Amino acid sequence: MQRVDSKQSELIALTQDLIRIPTLNPPGEFYRDICEYLDKRLSRRGFQTELIRAFDTPGDSEKYPRWNIVARREGARAGECVHFNSHIDVVTIGQGWTRDPFGGELVDGKIYGRGSCDMKGGLATSIVAVEAFLETWPDFSGAIEISGTADEETGGFGGVAYLSEKGFFNPEKVQHVIIPEPLHKDRVCLGHRGVFWAEIETHGHIAHGSMPFLGDCAVRHMGAVMAEMEASLFPALAAKRTDMPVIPEGAKQSTMNINSIHGGQAEPEAGFTGLPSPVVPDHCKMIVDRRFLLEENIEEVEAELRGVLEKVKSERKDFRYDFTPIHSVIPTMTDKTAPVVTTVASAIEAVMDKKPEYVVSPGTYDQKHIDRIGRMKNCIAYGPGILDLAHQPDEYIEVGDMLDSAKVMGLALAELLTGPSSQN
Ligand SMILES: [Zn+2]
Repeated sequence: MQRVDSKQSELIALTQDLIRIPTLNPPGEFYRDICEYLDKRLSRRGFQTELIRAFDTPGDSEKYPRWNIVARREGARAGECVHFNSHIDVVTIGQGWTRDPFGGELVDGKIYGRGSCDMKGGLATSIVAVEAFLETWPDFSGAIEISGTADEETGGFGGVAYLSEKGFFNPEKVQHVIIPEPLHKDRVCLGHRGVFWAEIETHGHIAHGSMPFLGDCAVRHMGAVMAEMEASLFPALAAKRTDMPVIPEGAKQSTMNINSIHGGQAEPEAGFTGLPSPVVPDHCKMIVDRRFLLEENIEEVEAELRGVLEKVKSERKDFRYDFTPIHSVIPTMTDKTAPVVTTVASAIEAVMDKKPEYVVSPGTYDQKHIDRIGRMKNCIAYGPGILDLAHQPDEYIEVGDMLDSAKVMGLALAELLTGPSSQN
């Protein structure tokens, strides 16, 4: 713990350096630069590093190649491997900033910048924790891995999903995974809810806007779909409660967001001053984002939505629709008795003198790929930072939180890689 404290200025400098590489996604900029930066730092500490481009994954191109880094440090003898996985990408800046989004300014113990909280602060924390551990226990058993991966913010296909398919995450190679997402320094995040996205399209018939009775308005059909959702679906979702410890409280129920709706003519281009033409819309599209619980299964979720459409169809003349699932993620929750959970939980108690809170994330993150493709159940998200600040203007991370989290990670490493159980 003292060694972590002695590295405070190094931790600040590392976090600032990472924030100053503007790895915006989309489109996926400077991935190679940040991987090379991490490569330089970790190679110096005896890590074997590999830079891996996720060729032909969504978004990968010569202009925006999807680069990832995996670094591995072998211990003095065989044993288990602890892997820290952080995503290197950050979301768009947005409006409302009073600080330089890529300046890494340090003010009153807070480091500001896009990605400071989500999750370059967590990445820096894990690196400093590992370095403090290596200096304290140079002859540890097993291995430590640190990865920086692409595209978490856009689904993780060019990052953790790709690496899982290539065998980087599998129970023979890696036994414990910690993802330092900003869930707060005294919380262990066990998993996440499920996702089901679908496109609903209603069809109509085009006609002159002065004689709508000669056409069939696709937007009115969609209005009927929305009315049915309000009448039956939303109340049904609100009534479903999970035993998963999802945060915040509102996400303990099933939810659905209507991401977008569009019907009729395309919006005119900016600057166009003409009037729209009078036509009856012959199509209308809606994207829904349904988040579901461990207690539900994806077939039910899909059937429920189709049920709404079939009900409208049975009541409404000439109602025609298409329903297309476009994306899904199965919910996951690591068991509270899994070794990575119990180890990090007791480290939190040792550092912060309080029992950890167990939580489940309302949205998904890269654990989904580690679970489904990598077949690894011993995985959590644990890292410093306040989740609510993620993706906000003036996002920041507190240096004190990073130090506390680094101590927790260091103690967890000591327990997993130097304790009696690691000597077999
Ligand atoms: Zn994140």
